[in-house]
Amino acid sequence: MASDPNCIFCKIVAGEIPCFKLFEDAETLAFMDINPVHDGHALVIPKAHAPNVFEIAPEDFAVAARTAAKVAKAVNAAVQPDGINLMQANGEGAGQSVFHFHLHIIPRRSDDGLLFNWDPKPGDHARIAEIAERIRRFL
Ligand code: AMP
Ligand code: ZN
Repeated sequence: MASDPNCIFCKIVAGEIPCFKLFEDAETLAFMDINPVHDGHALVIPKAHAPNVFEIAPEDFAVAARTAAKVAKAVNAAVQPDGINLMQANGEGAGQSVFHFHLHIIPRRSDDGLLFNWDPKPGDHARIAEIAERIRRFL
């Protein structure tokens, strides 16, 4: 299984540094975020090292998603937030600080003012279509 000796989450997987473990199976690990946005903020990682969505194997994304759904239900039951966001950053510009793929499970309060929500405004359809065409060329 891919591992990076300099990666803090690989060290957690290896048991070299501690974590507040929530769940573990052969392919994934879920643990509490050490700098929680709110009570219940948790992280889910595939055990195999990949920096982010651009390099992760699809199977590793899939197993992380499976564990995230399971853990999100438990966080929801335990913390009873007003909602939960699953969040995942890729690259420094998106706020990624640990370069081992991870899904955040973030319990929310209606008035918590977290900034990754936005007011939807209708887009320009020609512009949307043009960008969609540009993306499809890479699929
Ligand atoms: P991101 O900024 O999306 O890459 O998220 C990385 C997250 O990992 C941050 O929310 C950190 O608080 C969290 N984090 C970093 N080191 C640890 C650690 N040793 N144990 C638990 N969470 C950590
Ligand atoms: Zn790693």
